[in-house]
Amino acid sequence: MESRELRKQAGLANKSGHAGPVIVAGPCSAETPQQLMDTATALAATGVVDYFRAGVWKPRTSPGSFEGMGSPALRWLQDVKKETGLAVGTEAGSVQHAQEALMHGLDMLWIGARTVSNPFLVQEIADLLKGTDIVVMVKNPMAPDVDLWEGSIRRFQQAGIRNIYAIHRGFSYWTRSLFRNHPWWHLPMELKQRLPDVPVISDPSHIAGDRKLVPMLAQRAMEMGFSGLMIEVHPNPDKAMSDSLQQLTPKAFHCLIKRILGQGINGHGGTKNMLKELRAEVDILDEVLVWALTNRMKLATEIAGVKARNNMEVLQPERWKEVIEKVVSMAKKGGLRDTFVEKLFDDIHHESLSLQQLPVQDR
Ligand code: PEP
Ligand code: MN
Repeated sequence: MESRELRKQAGLANKSGHAGPVIVAGPCSAETPQQLMDTATALAATGVVDYFRAGVWKPRTSPGSFEGMGSPALRWLQDVKKETGLAVGTEAGSVQHAQEALMHGLDMLWIGARTVSNPFLVQEIADLLKGTDIVVMVKNPMAPDVDLWEGSIRRFQQAGIRNIYAIHRGFSYWTRSLFRNHPWWHLPMELKQRLPDVPVISDPSHIAGDRKLVPMLAQRAMEMGFSGLMIEVHPNPDKAMSDSLQQLTPKAFHCLIKRILGQGINGHGGTKNMLKELRAEVDILDEVLVWALTNRMKLATEIAGVKARNNMEVLQPERWKEVIEKVVSMAKKGGLRDTFVEKLFDDIHHESLSLQQLPVQDR
């Protein structure tokens, strides 16, 4: 098959010894037997899919949203496996889910971003899976907390699970940026350093929350050396019962994967897209900087009140010396130049002092 050939030629071998990127694809949710089989048939025909995914139980933010079709959909997944030969997997959010998935012979379970933050639950699921050869994919938690992610993976390792993947699906951020979940690319890289034997695959669908952004994120992940991709695919994305904005049609998925595999790991997926994404990250960091400055100045005016009530001088040279030494040393570790940081903090200090000297009503 054309794509399978491309996959071989791409030579995307990674440190974990995989022959190429691991591709997980399928709908966000299993909705009907027909929807599942149609998607799976189209995906099997591409020849590039390693695991077919479909959520049977859906963790939803609000009660009353579509919460998945539940246990009956496990049989639909069994049928998909029988008909297409694809390995199949779903999300386990409880021991009961994991038990039922095992009983139905599923090949893979993923632990969702909400479940992974609960060590009791992760341990219970890991204990249940002991002695099985099921593949476990552990998504990053909603919070940008690598310790929690690593801890969950270690629980499965200690339970003797041999095939474990980490999935990078982005992290919650206080506002919705260009992305539904901010990628913070340095965090999966940090995880990779801590657990070099665990392949990390990226889930651009949940990072993006928007199908238009999926290709550039997938491209970026491949260029950064991720071991694979998890991508949501639906035969009629606009009608999907969950995550309708971010799912790709099977055709769009196939085009994307062919392009990625055709480029190999050193390919360049369009400077324009890369620039767009890098700028989106810069925008987020600018937002963080402005947020930090705003709150720093608010604290400075509160401090002014305390000083005034205690007849203290506004300028406290000792304290300022301490602040400068601390930030310069921190900034040095991050590779910033002393002169830049001193100048920047000098400006911040001046602004802070002049705010403190304003009459109370003008601060
Ligand atoms: C999903 O994969 O459909 C899902 C719910 O993922 P996450 O846990 O990353 O939100
Ligand atoms: Mn989803």
